[in-house]
Amino acid sequence: MKRLGIYVQVPFCQTKCTYCNFHTGVVAKERFAPYVDAVCKEIREHRELLKAARVIWTSGERPLETRGKRVESGENEETKYLVDTVYFGGGTPSLLEAGQLAKILEAIREALANEFQEVTLEADPETVEREKADAWARAGINRVSFGLQSFSDEELKAAGRMHRRGDVYRAVPILRAAGIQNISFDLIAGLPHQTKESWKHSLEELIALGPEHVSVYLLEVDEESRLGKELLAGGTRYSAGAVPGEDEMAEFYEMAQAKLGTAGYRHYEISNWAKPGFESKHNLKYWRREPYLGFGAGAHSFSVRQRWANVHDALAYVGAIESGRLPVEQLETVTAEQALEEELFLGLRQLDGVDVGRIERKYGVALAGRFEPLTTAGLVEREGDVVRLAEEKLSVSNEVFVELMK
Ligand code: SF4
Repeated sequence: MKRLGIYVQVPFCQTKCTYCNFHTGVVAKERFAPYVDAVCKEIREHRELLKAARVIWTSGERPLETRGKRVESGENEETKYLVDTVYFGGGTPSLLEAGQLAKILEAIREALANEFQEVTLEADPETVEREKADAWARAGINRVSFGLQSFSDEELKAAGRMHRRGDVYRAVPILRAAGIQNISFDLIAGLPHQTKESWKHSLEELIALGPEHVSVYLLEVDEESRLGKELLAGGTRYSAGAVPGEDEMAEFYEMAQAKLGTAGYRHYEISNWAKPGFESKHNLKYWRREPYLGFGAGAHSFSVRQRWANVHDALAYVGAIESGRLPVEQLETVTAEQALEEELFLGLRQLDGVDVGRIERKYGVALAGRFEPLTTAGLVEREGDVVRLAEEKLSVSNEVFVELMK
């Protein structure tokens, strides 16, 4: 049986962060129950819904256009899937009641063959309470990913986050006591008011708390967000003038590389570090181009052969599911060319590198010419068939990708 990841999108937040323009909303709690019911219905009826959306999906169903034939991915009509990872992302899924999360997990257990190994909940630290954490663990949630972003209250406040440094110190022991022994922390390099000194403090506090997994992202400001608009048009309300420059952000990233490495975290993906054995099983599926099904408003799915996405608007999504209409609004067949680009791009994001020989054989292409200039420039390293980003160039990986995709 092939392994399958399930992603559940929960598009609700407590406030809107200044840099974000995701399709998430700050809504009344009364909106949660109908949303959860719609997600459960989508999960239970996914085979019929996907079939109606003309998605070729082989989770125990005969694929629509491939009966008796092998498809590009090597899957055939007999392919069966076993769900081993579930990821509740958002938004802020920890805003849902524990019973609502349990209900969604139950719907997955009923609708799909499963053997959950990793069930992740994205959470904001201030939403963690003892009873809630106990109920999460009872429901089967065994990994919590905190959007910490910083340990500086000044930076958190400027970014429009609800939690403060103290909430993290309160939340972590609650999770540990509940038996959740796989905790991930996200940090953002480049928040307004961040300095080399404050970044160093955030890294040191994070390491002292000993999470099993760490993600470090460089600040990405959406142009349509409040901070994005201020950066373009000027102003002081959202501290646009205090956003660190690109060189500083690269320096922050390099400091994270050094400190996390010294503390025993293995850098396994451009933005991700883990203690041995705690790499994110679910996220590895994205980087390895393995299949996943997404449920909820704006959720994306991938079957290797196709990608599709649900409507973003939560009300439109609930309306569609309740009235038996399709929530899928985009469906795309992945061409061999796109698949090749994705294999290179996603493969290079992983620090183990990409097996170029395997890709050349699979796609019938020669890639030496594409990598040679990058190797000569010292941006990538080649060892036999394996090509990987040079460690000291990880902070400028976007430039490498631009060169590679030319
Ligand atoms: S919590 Fe996440 S999704 Fe919600 S506004 Fe902040 S950055 Fe955006």
